[in-house]
Amino acid sequence: MTLTARWFYVKRSTLVTLLTFYIMQVIPLSEGSFTIDGSKQFIPFDTDADNLKERNRGSLLVEIQSFVVRTSKDLLLLDTGLGFHDQHGVLQIHQLMHAAGIDPLEITKVLLTHLHKDHAGGAGILNNATGKFQPSFPNATYYIHEKELSFALNKGLPSFIPDELEFLENNDQVVLLGDQGTIDGYIEYQISSGHSPFHQVFWIRDGDETIFFGGDEAPQLHQMKNRFVAKYDHDGKRAMELRQKWWEQGKQEGWTFLFYHDLKSPSYTASQANEMAS
Ligand SMILES: [Zn+2]
Repeated sequence: MTLTARWFYVKRSTLVTLLTFYIMQVIPLSEGSFTIDGSKQFIPFDTDADNLKERNRGSLLVEIQSFVVRTSKDLLLLDTGLGFHDQHGVLQIHQLMHAAGIDPLEITKVLLTHLHKDHAGGAGILNNATGKFQPSFPNATYYIHEKELSFALNKGLPSFIPDELEFLENNDQVVLLGDQGTIDGYIEYQISSGHSPFHQVFWIRDGDETIFFGGDEAPQLHQMKNRFVAKYDHDGKRAMELRQKWWEQGKQEGWTFLFYHDLKSPSYTASQANEMAS
């Protein structure tokens, strides 16, 4: 190799190193489609065979899907699904992880937006030997807003299932968060208080990517694009304004939105260019 060629080689490899950064991997874990009405019961819905008009008036059709995000530091789980299990007691979310090649024991952090039963149902699992619930991700730290747990336990049914949440109290695996801050220098959280009083949202920033997880404040793509106040929100106007603010900022900054209740668009990378094309 001549000196010039070697110099060029070194320069080029340095450049390649500079340009190589970690790309986060997102794995949606779909538990299926459900209708929900005023009774707050989630009833399975087969989008091919079932007819929405045959369900109770005002029924909403929603997907339930948690997300695993592989970052350069962690294997994150964003909300935990309904907590349904099969006849052997295996949680659906564990089955979905195994099918995707993920060992539930590898989850390092569980980020919970709020504790409504369709978001926190899979957080715990019944230990038949003790008769008590315990964390279903034994090697993970769980992050919850400091006031959400007592709120959920006091409020109870039908939106929350206290029996399945009590294990989170005084648990070494649980970190209670304040209104805003950063976890491990790269996961930003903020209380949002639109959908429910102590709901929180997360930004995961790794390399030059930003993933935004808004839970029930930003549940579906169409809700980001259309202005409306949802009756089921605690403060519907605030939720609408937050959605609009995040949508504009997300387009400017190229965020990837993860939509927990969206059938068609589990994730969507917002950009000005995408908006003009659609
Ligand atoms: Zn909710």
